[in-house]
Amino acid sequence: MKPEEARSVHQIDAVVVGAGLAGLRAALELARNGIEVAVLTKVYPTRSHSGAAQGGIAAALANVAEDSLELHMFDTIKGSDYLGDQNVIELFVQEARKTVYDFEHMGVPFSRTEDGRINQRPFGGHSSPRACFSADITGHVLLHTLYEQCVRHRVHFYNEFQVVSLVIEDHVSRGVVAWDIRHGGLHLFHAKAVLLATGGYGRAFKITSNAHANTGDSLSLILEAGLPLEDMEFVQFHPTGLYKHGILLSEAARGEGGYLLNGKGDRFMATYAKEKMELAPRDLVSRAEQTEINEGRGVDGKDYVCLDLRHLGREKIMDRLPQVWELALNYLKVDAIEAPVPIQPTAHYSMGGIPANIHTEVIFNASGDVVAGLYTAGEASCLSLHGANRLGTNSLQDAATFGRLAGGRMADFIRQAGFSSLPANPLDRARDRIGHLISGGNGRERHALIREELQQNMTRHAGVFRNAEGLKQLLQTVRELQERYRNVRIDDVNHPFNLDLMEALEVGHLLNFSEVIVEGALVRTESRGAHFRTDYPKRNDQNWLAHTLAWKTDSGVHLNHDKTVVIYMDRFPPQERKY
Ligand SMILES: Cc1cc2nc3c(=O)[nH]c(=O)nc-3n(C[C@H](O)[C@H](O)[C@H](O)COP(=O)(O)OP(=O)(O)OC[C@H]3O[C@@H](n4cnc5c(N)ncnc54)[C@H](O)[C@@H]3O)c2cc1C
Repeated sequence: MKPEEARSVHQIDAVVVGAGLAGLRAALELARNGIEVAVLTKVYPTRSHSGAAQGGIAAALANVAEDSLELHMFDTIKGSDYLGDQNVIELFVQEARKTVYDFEHMGVPFSRTEDGRINQRPFGGHSSPRACFSADITGHVLLHTLYEQCVRHRVHFYNEFQVVSLVIEDHVSRGVVAWDIRHGGLHLFHAKAVLLATGGYGRAFKITSNAHANTGDSLSLILEAGLPLEDMEFVQFHPTGLYKHGILLSEAARGEGGYLLNGKGDRFMATYAKEKMELAPRDLVSRAEQTEINEGRGVDGKDYVCLDLRHLGREKIMDRLPQVWELALNYLKVDAIEAPVPIQPTAHYSMGGIPANIHTEVIFNASGDVVAGLYTAGEASCLSLHGANRLGTNSLQDAATFGRLAGGRMADFIRQAGFSSLPANPLDRARDRIGHLISGGNGRERHALIREELQQNMTRHAGVFRNAEGLKQLLQTVRELQERYRNVRIDDVNHPFNLDLMEALEVGHLLNFSEVIVEGALVRTESRGAHFRTDYPKRNDQNWLAHTLAWKTDSGVHLNHDKTVVIYMDRFPPQERKY
């Protein structure tokens, strides 16, 4: 190690990568346990995507209607199209209430019922009003409250630090390497335990509700470390993205009673989910919309349908859905009190991710062997709670609950573990990669163009509807783009605030894991949850009731389906999913 680099070596018990709900909740738990913890985050903590969550956080509190843990569990299992691991779902529903009350004690300003209890609203796929909310800024208030608590508990924040490689040897995690965006330069964080909580991977798609930072960085770094990803083919498309922008209009809009209308002015959900109508689960509603559009019943023959809130009236819209109203006005110049809002499906949530067991420990094979000292939580992880399709409001709860549990688990581990030794040159991989991008050799490729091509093709061929022909074409495109990426050169050769470099690194990550999404989607010849193959439109439990594990090798993606789904056959055997 060169002398100037030694100044940038930090030794700390716990490192948390990501300052969204999962990362912050874990950091708070570690700090409450008296553990020194550093949070590394690419964006300022309160700008994490969790802050954009609008609708609510699920827990069976039964504050406004009858509810039970059993029912929350069943809804989640059915929503997952029976791919969710039922032991994980059971733990989740049990812990969810504790997580919400803990937030309440921290001072989160939840919306209240008349008699002062936490208010709850209906959400798609949940059979009781279960979403605890704060108007339509739920994620914002949770994230800000957690950040305050972390500061109060003296969590060390390294804001605008982009993690660029993981230090893992012999299935033991030893730390991470990060680029200091503000000043430039690499830092090594030597830690006993590392949590990966970098959020979702929606930015692989052109039309997405996800923040710019949601580029799945740690997933790509996991592949690079020779470890697998799980169930990557399962990407949720949310039915109400603002037309052409993909920006999310919360499902709360339908929870509060909004209608979906096609070009003829019909509430078309009557054809697809007679009972649940607009509140059927997202995968089903998105497919219904796309079918209406594909069959020429979009509005004015175009590729959108409408969300109609007019009948709710000004008062309810402004009280319960102020952000939805504002987004439609700002981006489409539509006043939702007066007119229906144009919408289309948008890539929204990543069910797949870094495989972990019920204790949030990262595993590296179908038998469940763990990488010592490595943990994951939140949208980056795949535990698998959401299976093939996540229910709305279950993911804030997922991030907060499993963030909390991960923090506790890491604290126990740290108390009995020493620091593992570092490899000889832990910074080499990161230095080579950044050096290559900055010097660029004779490269002429632009990363922004490569990203644009990738995103457009992913939305087109790996979107709401998929088929073998489109996916094969897409796979070839991804591989060509990977080749072109080798010749990317960036314009900015300075070190401080080099956003050109930051984005170039992100495009590399997108290309890396997108190949796994496409391979997974191609190989899974069935339709389940959010993954719909027009050439295999039925669910096939006999062959495919299993998780996908995928590794990157020199010869491409290696996949297997050896990881079984945990099912309580006596309680929740697989059934056909009808709403
Ligand atoms: C618009 C929108 C609305 C939503 N509404 C709801 C809702 O109402 N209810 C619900 O349950 N769910 C909702 N979701 C989903 C939910 O918000 C997310 O699943 C959840 O917040 C994810 O939290 P997280 O902590 O895993 O990740 P995020 O909040 O996305 O945070 C990721 C963190 O990782 C950091 N990071 C990423 N890469 C790096 C790197 N290389 N180095 C360092 N740091 C890095 C980022 O800086 C960030 O701090 C919504 C999602 C969207 C997009």
